[in-house]
Amino acid sequence: MITCHVVLLPFMAYGHMIPMADMAVLFASRGLQTTIVTTPSSAHQFTKPIQKTVDYTHPITLHIIDFKAGSSLVTDNKDQTVANEYLTKFMEAISTLQEPFEQFIEQYQPDCIVSDMFFPWTVDIAAKFNIPRILFNGTGFFAQCAFEAIRVYGPTVSSDTEPFVVPHLPHEIKLTKKQLPQFEGEEFKVFLKVLMQAAEAEAKSYGVIINSFYELEPEYVRHYREVVKRKAWHVGPVSLCSKSTEDKLERGKKSSIDEDVCLKWLESKPHGSVIYVSFGTIVKVTSSQMYEIAMALEACDVNFVWVVKNDQETSMPEGFEARVEAKGKGLIIKGWAPQVLILDHESVGGFVTHCGWNSVLEGVSGGVAMVAWPVMAEQFYNAKLVTDVLQIGVSIGDVEWSAASTCDGVKREVIESAVARVMGVEEGEDMRIRARELKEKANTAIEKGGSSYSDLTAFIENITTFKSG
Ligand code: UDP
Repeated sequence: MITCHVVLLPFMAYGHMIPMADMAVLFASRGLQTTIVTTPSSAHQFTKPIQKTVDYTHPITLHIIDFKAGSSLVTDNKDQTVANEYLTKFMEAISTLQEPFEQFIEQYQPDCIVSDMFFPWTVDIAAKFNIPRILFNGTGFFAQCAFEAIRVYGPTVSSDTEPFVVPHLPHEIKLTKKQLPQFEGEEFKVFLKVLMQAAEAEAKSYGVIINSFYELEPEYVRHYREVVKRKAWHVGPVSLCSKSTEDKLERGKKSSIDEDVCLKWLESKPHGSVIYVSFGTIVKVTSSQMYEIAMALEACDVNFVWVVKNDQETSMPEGFEARVEAKGKGLIIKGWAPQVLILDHESVGGFVTHCGWNSVLEGVSGGVAMVAWPVMAEQFYNAKLVTDVLQIGVSIGDVEWSAASTCDGVKREVIESAVARVMGVEEGEDMRIRARELKEKANTAIEKGGSSYSDLTAFIENITTFKSG
């Protein structure tokens, strides 16, 4: 039997590296020779996933390429909050990876490149060496279909606030222009150029590999394949390859909270009584918004785990932390939370999320209902999937796409009411029932014979056939 050598090139941001590391483990578990190519400062991200594969026929190998142009940027930006001027420099620096990556491909002659969307030039390298370039863009089918529909047909309204129906989608999805990405002005010129190159590279790619599962968004899997006309394979949720507590504890970064403290706190709470609040790795929460969230959480009749950035505690109301901890009502994690471990815990019933795709999928895999609070990127599309299509969450309400990736302006009463709806016994319980059904389906999808397992088989067969010619 032919063994294919697949090379993965992840973009250096947690929301891209974490799922790609999981995907590499999945590939290795199915006998593919798998190499992750990355930069010196990101290499440690892959140590744990690689350890998981040491006993496999082909353990994952790591190949590090030089990133001198970006090294100071990476060190200066450890927390990955993306200021816009930083984004420009980073995107410019990234193009310097093209040459060493091409040299690597020339030397090792792999059979397939799985490339993040932010490296559009991998399409030319793949063409030069006559191997398939598979795109990984870090989102699900629904967001891809919505994005493409708006790209082709445009919003059909002139006002920023008038809702329009996204054309030709299987469901009636309403958005406003102020919820769509708006990269205007000089500061976004470079980023916009990369996005346009990424769209061109997508069309020229051999196929797309997607971290999702068929049962989550069947109409959109079909739409993407039949209407958008992409060859696509769904292989997720890839986070489900983290089965043990140890694996769940260290995804991306070492957790800032001790495992025992976290689990003991969760175990002391009744089933489904805790809401988990996190805005992912890039979104910034303003001080005034921090204050409103704290006031809402304190007033709510539920327990909570709230992940805040290290320097944000000063934005909380006086004595807030001591009060909620003394009552056992709230656990505040400063820094990095073991998100998958928390969402999988039976005491957690809800999730206030910025709707990053990984968070949405991890929420689905944990069977929790969500307060969808999108901020930037494709998060408004993901939010619509959660609220309008899957009906496993409620919208935080009237929020706008933020060019500065900033979460701001939502009053405590609005947050309190959304949390109460999601955690409540009527509407909330219906959402949780649907969410738990999806959790079951997610687990079945990745097992032998499941939809994601079978699609990964199809992917492997496809690249093997390509190789044999
Ligand atoms: N994450 C985590 N702990 C944290 C913050 C984030 O484990 O404290 C993980 C989370 O589980 C997810 C990823 O980081 O896998 C964030 O990706 P997502 O697409 O949700 O959001 P982004 O940060 O890219 O906006």
